[in-house]
Amino acid sequence: MSGVGAVCHTLNPRLSAEQMIYIIRHAEDKVLFTDLTFVPLLEKLQDHFPPLRYVIMTDRAHMPQTTLDALCYEELLEGQPTQRLWPEFPETTASGLCYTSGTTGDPKGVLYTHRSNVLHALSVATVLGPDLRYEPRILPVVPLFHVNAWGLPFTAPLVGGSLIMPGPFLDGASLWDLCQSERVETAWGVPTIWQGLFTEIQKRGRKPDALRHMVVGGSAMPRSLIESYEQVGVDVNHAWGMTETSPLGTQGALPVNKFDAPFTERMALKASQGKRVFGVDMKIVDEDGQPMPQDGEAIGELYVRGNTVMGSYFKNDTATNQAMDAEGWFGTGDVASISASGRLTIRDRAKDLIKSGGEWISSIDLENLALAHPKIAQCAVIAMPHPKWDERPVLIAKPVDPLDPPTLEDVNQMLSQNLARWQLPDDLILVEELPLTATGKISKLTLRQQFKDYVLPDLAG
Ligand code: AMP
Repeated sequence: MSGVGAVCHTLNPRLSAEQMIYIIRHAEDKVLFTDLTFVPLLEKLQDHFPPLRYVIMTDRAHMPQTTLDALCYEELLEGQPTQRLWPEFPETTASGLCYTSGTTGDPKGVLYTHRSNVLHALSVATVLGPDLRYEPRILPVVPLFHVNAWGLPFTAPLVGGSLIMPGPFLDGASLWDLCQSERVETAWGVPTIWQGLFTEIQKRGRKPDALRHMVVGGSAMPRSLIESYEQVGVDVNHAWGMTETSPLGTQGALPVNKFDAPFTERMALKASQGKRVFGVDMKIVDEDGQPMPQDGEAIGELYVRGNTVMGSYFKNDTATNQAMDAEGWFGTGDVASISASGRLTIRDRAKDLIKSGGEWISSIDLENLALAHPKIAQCAVIAMPHPKWDERPVLIAKPVDPLDPPTLEDVNQMLSQNLARWQLPDDLILVEELPLTATGKISKLTLRQQFKDYVLPDLAG
C-alpha cells in the first residue's frame, strides 16, 4: 500500500475478539485483506466491524463459500497493468499503521509516514551494514503486524536482498530446515525463536550452512544464548526498539577496535542493547524528568526522539500527552543506563506489562478482569521467567473465602471472554494477604521477591 496513497494497517489475528474489534474500528479500516485461514474468524466477528470490503488472498479455484462480502485477490489483479506510475504526494503522507499494546490501556496506533519508513530503512541498512550488503538472503521471523516486520519489507529491496517468509511453522526444526533449504544468511527475531532454533542446532550438531548473522530484539537476548550462537559461528547483533521507534533505536555490533578483544569482553558488549542509530537521540531521566548522567551507573527512564520516532499516537491525545515530555521526547517505559561510550543497557521496565514470546500481556488488564471473579478479593499479576516464552503471567490472589477458593480453570474461563488464550495466566497462587506499599498499593516488588524461587507448572518436575 505504501507509495499508492493508501495506508497499510497490519493486524495481529491472535488478539482477542474484543481487541481486534476495537482496533479495526479505531483505525477506520476500509478494506480487509485476509488469507483463507482467518475467513471463519472474520465471519464470526463481521457484525461487530464497521462496513468493510474483504479481499481473500487466493485464486478463484480456492475461493471459499463465505458470508463475507468478499472479493478474490487474484481475480482483482487480472487484467490490471503490470507497470504503474508512482503518484506524487508529500513525503509526510501516512503509509502504514501498527497498533501496540506495549503501554497500559487500549492498544495504541502508530502511524508511519513514507519519510519515516525510508529513513528507517536507510538507517537499518547503514548500521547493520556488512551483513546486509551483497544481496543478502534475510529471514524475518517477526510478523508483519509487529512494526512492519521490523521494517524489513522496506530494507530488503533497498539493499537488493531477498526476504524468506517463514509461514506458520516457527519451531526449531522447521526453521532449521527453512534456513538450510533457502540458504538464509541473516535471521531476525525475538529470543524465544532463537532459543528454539539453537536447541535444534544442538540436536543436529551443526548450524544451517549459510546462516552467519542474526538480529535479536523485542526482549533482552540472554548472554548465554548470544555466546552459544557465537561459538557456532553466528554473529549476533542485539538491537533495541519499539513500535513507536519504527523500530530500530539501538544496535549492538562490536566496534572495530574490539574485534580482537577477549571472548568474555566481546560477549559483555554484545549482551548490552548497543548504541543509538543515526537520527535517534537518547536520554535517561530521574523521577522529576531531569536528565541523568550517562556513565553506565545511573539508571533512569529512557526517552528517545528522532526522525523515526513517533510524534503522537494515532487519534489518542491522552496517551500522547502521557508519553511525550515538554520537549517532544518520547518516554519508552524502559528503565536503562547509558555508558560513557553511549552503550544502552535495559535494566527494568516501568510499564506494568509482561512480554511473552515477543508480544505484550497487560498485568493491569488481567488484574482488573480477574477481580470481577466472585471468589477473588484482591489480586496481582506478575511475570515469571520462562526459558521459552521469556516471561509468563501468574495470578496471585487473596480469595474471598479461603475455604472456597477459586481455581485457575474457573478464572481462566472467565478471562477468556476478553483475552486471547496466550494472554491467560499460567498459574494461580492463593495467599492469605497481599503485601502493600506505604501508599496502600499492592507491592509487586515484594511479590517478585517473595516468589523469586517459584517455578511455573509446566517447568516443575
Ligand atoms: P514493541 O513495541 O512491542 O516492539 O515492544 C518494545 C519494547 O520491547 C521495548 O520498550 C522494550 O521494553 C522491549 N525490548 C525491545 N527490544 C529489547 C531488547 N533488545 N532488550 C530488552 N528489551 C527490549
